Amino acid sequence: SVEHVRKPDWLKIKLNTNEQYTGLKKMMREKKLHTVCEEAKCPNIHECWAIRRTATFMILGSVCTRACRFCAVQTGLPTELDWEEPERVAESVEQMGLKHVVITAVARDDLKDGGAQVFAEAVRAVRRRNPFCSVEVLPSDMNGVYDNLKILMDARPDILNHNIETVKRLTPKVRARATYERSLEFLRRAKEINANIPTKSSIMIGLGETKEEIIEAMDDLRANNVDIITIGQYLQPTKQHLKVQKYWSPLEFNELKEIALQKGFSHCEAGPLVRSSYHADEQVNAIKVN
Ligand code: SF4
Ligand code: SF4
Repeated sequence: SVEHVRKPDWLKIKLNTNEQYTGLKKMMREKKLHTVCEEAKCPNIHECWAIRRTATFMILGSVCTRACRFCAVQTGLPTELDWEEPERVAESVEQMGLKHVVITAVARDDLKDGGAQVFAEAVRAVRRRNPFCSVEVLPSDMNGVYDNLKILMDARPDILNHNIETVKRLTPKVRARATYERSLEFLRRAKEINANIPTKSSIMIGLGETKEEIIEAMDDLRANNVDIITIGQYLQPTKQHLKVQKYWSPLEFNELKEIALQKGFSHCEAGPLVRSSYHADEQVNAIKVN
């Protein structure tokens, strides 16, 4: 048992709940929008929303057809498709004055297009209202239907992000339906569709993986032309979810970052509080070709 594994001090962070933040939360409810920032109780919310002006929206409902063992999103039969959601996301991006937005979605395995059309429309709607805001998309593997990936890529996001989430060996234990190989192929195909759009992937560590396995995952991502990697500490959202096996130290994260850069990633964020979308605004600038 690893129940004795205690949370180290560097992870004990208080959520900053100031007035501005309360106002934004109210707007989200009024517009029936969901953010990962709120739902995952992300410790970076103040820095992201108020200082960096970035946020992660979760579209296509708040109920997912999958049940990954690290994820707190509710599993079940998803709600209907809401074609007005893209415009509401665009309005919120405007009201929040965002400079970078990440748009993710629950896995809609119930839909033929996996939600790709609403997803693509969200990118376009944000662009129309917010020409200076960069847009990063973070889709599921869309069941490996690459026509759906094409629909999304044709909306020309600034970054295509798809998370492998964990190392190869642990994938069947951690993720539901998704496979390690299919996610790698998804990233490779994105690059084939449009080589000018940077690709990105993230892993959570602390689930029992070794350093060698993390390095193997880096190599596999590079072999599929992935440009950006983020590495963060897994935190157990509820007692029903996978337990934390290890808290990697800030020093170890720094070392992983060094290795990633040596492997040829053009950008790496690695640290205990790093999330897929953390400091994503810098990544657009860091790698944009021409
Ligand atoms: Fe939201 Fe991502 Fe920032 Fe967390 S790191 S507050 S999820 S944008
Ligand atoms: Fe959570 Fe995504 Fe897995 Fe759905 S597919 S359970 S939203 S990680």
